[in-house]
Amino acid sequence: MTPTKKKSDVPRCGLCGKTGNLIRTECCGNWICDDEGGYVLFSYARNSCHRNHRRLTLCGHHFSEEHEGEWQTCAECRSDFEPEMVAWYGTNEYNFEKMPDPPSYEPTRCSKCGVVIRLGTDGYSRSRDEFWCEKCAAVEMRKRLRQRGA
Ligand SMILES: [Zn+2]
Ligand SMILES: [Zn+2]
Ligand SMILES: [Zn+2]
Ligand SMILES: [Zn+2]
Repeated sequence: MTPTKKKSDVPRCGLCGKTGNLIRTECCGNWICDDEGGYVLFSYARNSCHRNHRRLTLCGHHFSEEHEGEWQTCAECRSDFEPEMVAWYGTNEYNFEKMPDPPSYEPTRCSKCGVVIRLGTDGYSRSRDEFWCEKCAAVEMRKRLRQRGA
């Protein structure tokens, strides 16, 4: 008898690979860490697999907004965010399955200094049609505070 390498059938979180304390996602039925209870309100920590998938992917958005059909081909999902965010939500590491054809987009640049801002992962401020990188936003805030104090 040759020992066959059997694939372990222990369920694992599809995002981080952990076993134990798992739950199936409501949106797509994949195993994921049942870790939302440990989430600290207002901490903005991106450390919960379950929450990340629910909040930061098109799959989670599509499900919570009750769109029809599959998120991968959903026109509503594509029109809900700017193309850069559609691409990020569709392909970031919180997905079990990545969007096959993320939309193309022009990189977003800081309206003040021109540095490229990655909307999915960088800090930035938005004011009307302008995007400011964290540095410029901080400078701008100081300026405004000074004006107000004058
Ligand atoms: Zn996990
Ligand atoms: Zn899902
Ligand atoms: Zn959708
Ligand atoms: Zn800037």
